[in-house]
This record gives sequence, structure tokens and C-alpha cells, in this order.
Amino acid sequence: MSSKEGKKKVVVVGGGISGALLAKSLQFHADVVLIDPKEYFEITYANLRAKVEPSFAERSVVKHSDYFTNGRIVVSYAVGVTETGVLTSDGHLIPYDYLVIATGNNDSYPKTRSMRLEQYEEDYEKIKSANSVLIVGGGSTGVELAGEIAVDFPEKKVTLVHKNSRLLDFMGVKASRKTLDWLTSKNVEVILGQTVDLNSHSDGAKTYQTSKGETITADCHFFCAGVPLGSSWIKESVLKDALDAGGRLMVDEHLRIKGRKNVFAIGDITDIPEIKQGFFAMQHAMVTAKNLKLLIYGGKESKMATYKAGPDMAIVSLGRKDAVVQYPMTTMIGRIPGFMKSSDQFVGKTRKQMGIDTSCFPL
Ligand SMILES: Cc1cc2nc3c(=O)[nH]c(=O)nc-3n(C[C@H](O)[C@H](O)[C@H](O)COP(=O)(O)OP(=O)(O)OC[C@H]3O[C@@H](n4cnc5c(N)ncnc54)[C@H](O)[C@@H]3O)c2cc1C
Repeated sequence: MSSKEGKKKVVVVGGGISGALLAKSLQFHADVVLIDPKEYFEITYANLRAKVEPSFAERSVVKHSDYFTNGRIVVSYAVGVTETGVLTSDGHLIPYDYLVIATGNNDSYPKTRSMRLEQYEEDYEKIKSANSVLIVGGGSTGVELAGEIAVDFPEKKVTLVHKNSRLLDFMGVKASRKTLDWLTSKNVEVILGQTVDLNSHSDGAKTYQTSKGETITADCHFFCAGVPLGSSWIKESVLKDALDAGGRLMVDEHLRIKGRKNVFAIGDITDIPEIKQGFFAMQHAMVTAKNLKLLIYGGKESKMATYKAGPDMAIVSLGRKDAVVQYPMTTMIGRIPGFMKSSDQFVGKTRKQMGIDTSCFPL
């Protein structure tokens, strides 16, 4: 099923960190179609900085057309997959020779880049005009947001409620404890082991009830938990047997979906036993690009590259200068890890990897 020019058809579903890099890497080797519900790719690491400094998003939210210049972008959700094509929510069936699924996390973002930039302005105004902010969720999103507000607006009262007994529970106990100490030192009130039912909270009300009956007063709130995996669309498809009980796609050492020769999965959607991090997702993309180039040009399957799960590493920024980093042998907090991530949030580095001109920030 090659295209008119004789090129193989590669469909990439999901234009996040991994799918975007893969589409870019293959664009001159195959007839590539990128399916994503938005016209842009976002460096997710910078999301929370953009809420306290909206102009930051001008560099971290990038139109797919800025790095993917030799392929087709379909701005739509994938809703199903057959043996030979992907069905989209706008009713098209997009044929493939090779399919790569990179639908990591299915957060609902606006369709256009300008709408996304407006959203950051609105969040900034919301924070600026509040004296007190409630953050629900103590994973990386909630912790990074609490850190950003505590550092940029130290006069505001920040309360963070997390349902589990420790913050950042995807990292080790040391990282959780050091992060709790850091937030507390910045006057963030952290409430662990409780939830806040936002469904029973009426708009404009300034009090919130926790699951243990505590009352929190805040001028506004941010919900930073519960982003679903982007795999619900696969559940009724020909690939349903490749989903594990948690909704992740089971892959082999070549990142091919279990039992399939021409379908790959990369990024957070995979069942690879490693902390879900963008730098691993980008490595998945590079391995898969290499394997697809090999197969497209008629190479032997036995020559395919393999991927080994990454080490126990993760980094979470804490405001503009500090961060907490976990390596396999040690965990550190403060300026040294902060130097790695917190000033630029890996935006410059990622733009460079994506081949986007770092001197031009299109609006
Ligand atoms: C606050 C925060 C900070 C982080 N900091 C770091 C860091 O410093 N370093 C690091 O390495 N990692 C970091 N991470 C983790 C990193 O963001 C993820 O590991 C990475 O984004 C995963 O990439 P992905 O391509 O698998 O999926 P995602 O980036 O989640 O992208 C998924 C894409 O698929 C699309 N999609 C979903 N469903 C569908 C569908 N049905 N059809 C079509 N498209 C669909 C989505 O719209 C999205 O574009 C951080 C995460 C968070 C939340």
C-alpha cells in the first residue's frame, strides 16, 4: 500500500514529545501523516512556568507545521484502527503501511496555538488576582505549579492537597520528603491523604471541603490530577489485545506492539517499566525512526535496534532556580538540579532537538 510516489505510508498518532520527534525524523523517508487533535506540539515541561509567565509559552507551544514540513497534518482525534487504516473523529480512514501510536496522555487542550496562548494569559490573570490558591493533586503538575506560584508570588497563600500519603509518588521516598520540606519552607500548606470533591464545589465559592471534612479557603483552584492515558480509542479496535490492564500498550524490545510486525508504540502509552519521562519518550522515537528507516529501505528485521528500559531517573522543577532530581543511586534537591532544568525548562534543548530555529518565536 505505498503512496503514488512509491513511498511507504507511515501514520503517527499523537503529536506530543515522542510522536512529533518521530514524524519529524521520518518526513523525508516516507509519506508521513501526523494525527493530533491540535495544530501544535507542546513542550509539556514548560506548562507550569507559562501559567506564571505567559510569554514563556511562545517558545514552548510550537505549530506542527514549523518542524514537520514534508508531511500531512490531520488535526483530529484517532477514534479507531483497522488492519490497514486509522479512523479519525472527522470521519476519515487514513491508510498505513506502518503505524506508530504515541498518544501518551489525553489532556484536553484547545485546537489552535493562539487559543492555547490565551489560556495561559487567563491562568496568569487568575493567579495574579487571587490572594490564595488551592492546588488539587501532588504529582509533577501540582508540585511544579505550587513551586512556580510560591517563588513568583510569595505573598499568596498556596494550599496543595494530594490524595496519597506522599508527594511525587512516582519517584522515591527521598524525593517526596525533600520536596515536602522545600514546599513547606516556601509557606505552601501541604495536605496529604485527602481529596477535594470539585464536583460539589459551586463556581465562585471560596471554601472547599476535603474528604476528611477540613475546610480550605481559596480564591481560586487548579485541578492538577487525573489526566487519562490516551488509549481509550484502542479499546474496541483490532489492537485491543495489546492493551494491558492499566491501558498501556505492550511492546517488544523493538517497540513493536505485541503480535504485530508493522505497528509500533512509543512514549508514555507503552508498558515499558520505567518512570514516564519525555527524555525516554524521545529515545523511543529515535529507536523507532531507526527501525522504520531500516524496514522502509528493505533491511532485515534481524538488524532492528532494541530499546532497554531507562534507569530510575526523573526531575521536577521547584520554581525558577531549584529542582528535585532522582538518579538510580542518589536524590538531590536545590540549585544544582535546578541549574539543569528550572530556568529554561528544557525548552531551548527540545527546540534544538526538533530542529526549530531558536531565534524565531512565531506567534
Ligand atoms: C509537569 C510535568 C513536568 C514534566 N517534566 C519533565 C521533564 O523535565 N523531563 C522529562 O523528560 N519529562 C518530563 N515530564 C514527562 C513528559 O512530559 C512525558 O513523559 C511526555 O510528555 C510523554 O510524551 P508522549 O509523546 O508519550 O505523550 P504526550 O506528550 O502526552 O503527547 C500525547 C499526544 O497524543 C495526543 N493524543 C491523545 N489522544 C489522541 C487520539 N485519540 N488521537 C490523536 N492524538 C491523540 C495528545 O493530544 C498529545 O499531543 C513532565 C510531565 C509533567 C506533567
